[in-house]
Amino acid sequence: MKTIDLIVPCYNEEQGLEHFVIETNKVISSLPDYSFRYILINDGSRDKTYLVMKKLAEQFKNIKYISFSRNFGKEAAMYAGLQHSDADYTVVMDADLQHPPALFPQMIEALEKEGYDCCATKRDEREGESKFRGLFSKMFFALSNRLSDVKMPYGSMDYRMMTRQMVDSILELSEVQRFSKGIFSWVGFNTKWISFKTVDRQLGETTWKFSSLFKYAIDGITCFSVAPLRFTAVMGTVIFLISLIYIIITLIQTLFFGITTPGYVTTLCAILFMGGITEMSIGVLGEYIGRIYMETKDRPIYITKHSNFDDDNKTEKEN
Ligand code: UDP
Ligand code: MG
Repeated sequence: MKTIDLIVPCYNEEQGLEHFVIETNKVISSLPDYSFRYILINDGSRDKTYLVMKKLAEQFKNIKYISFSRNFGKEAAMYAGLQHSDADYTVVMDADLQHPPALFPQMIEALEKEGYDCCATKRDEREGESKFRGLFSKMFFALSNRLSDVKMPYGSMDYRMMTRQMVDSILELSEVQRFSKGIFSWVGFNTKWISFKTVDRQLGETTWKFSSLFKYAIDGITCFSVAPLRFTAVMGTVIFLISLIYIIITLIQTLFFGITTPGYVTTLCAILFMGGITEMSIGVLGEYIGRIYMETKDRPIYITKHSNFDDDNKTEKEN
């Protein structure tokens, strides 16, 4: 029997977690040829998510959980889940039922019958999302596809099923600053994209603010591309060449015709313009240096406080 692990990052999901498990169990029971296991990750929730998780794990034997010592972010939670997964197929999905478990049969088919290594999802309609946010994410996908080597289709989501081989490759990328959408694409393998209509989150609240989306976009670009660095270098060169021409013109004018104007405006413009460009370039540099700094610290991606992964071994020893 093939095994399938469901990796579910949970942050403040006390309201919806049980509902999620009940709904997902319905789909699981319609697939008797596969053995499913949940890997729930409590990402330092401020509510009672951990207690709900523990209760569910007592109720259902196929629920494993890891609880972090604080909020490390969804990326860290996904990584922890992937590390603990040893199944033939691994699914990454959200706990708010925005990622419908009803797609499992379709995903299994893509992996087993159509020979894909991964079956990923993208949204085809952005209902319930503000125009502004929609426009912003369109811009992000267009820009990051242009700038970096990894290609992500517009509206691609983390929700996907992957083969063991692909999961092992993902785990080899052990960087601290993780951008999973890019990592999934970077490791290669054949991905089938299926789209589905997104639904509004049913219970609980989304934790994404616009500022975190902006940070996400910057991460997405800088984690997989050095194009902004190259851009500043090209910009510097272009400005230098233009200045050179201007300097020659000014010198000739001064030598042959004498100083005619005081040049107050030109001087001011040049100083302000160059100041702006320099600041901007330092900012881009700083963005990358900051990343190097954080990466060289080599801190753990997450810290576990509670987990029931060792419970089976413990009871075996006790008996
Ligand atoms: N999540 C997490 N850590 C965080 C933020 C979110 O593990 O710091 C989880 C959350 O519980 C959910 C998933 O990531 O299962 C997606 O979060 P959310 O629904 O808030 O985001 P959206 O669907 O709006 O992208
Ligand atoms: Mg959601």
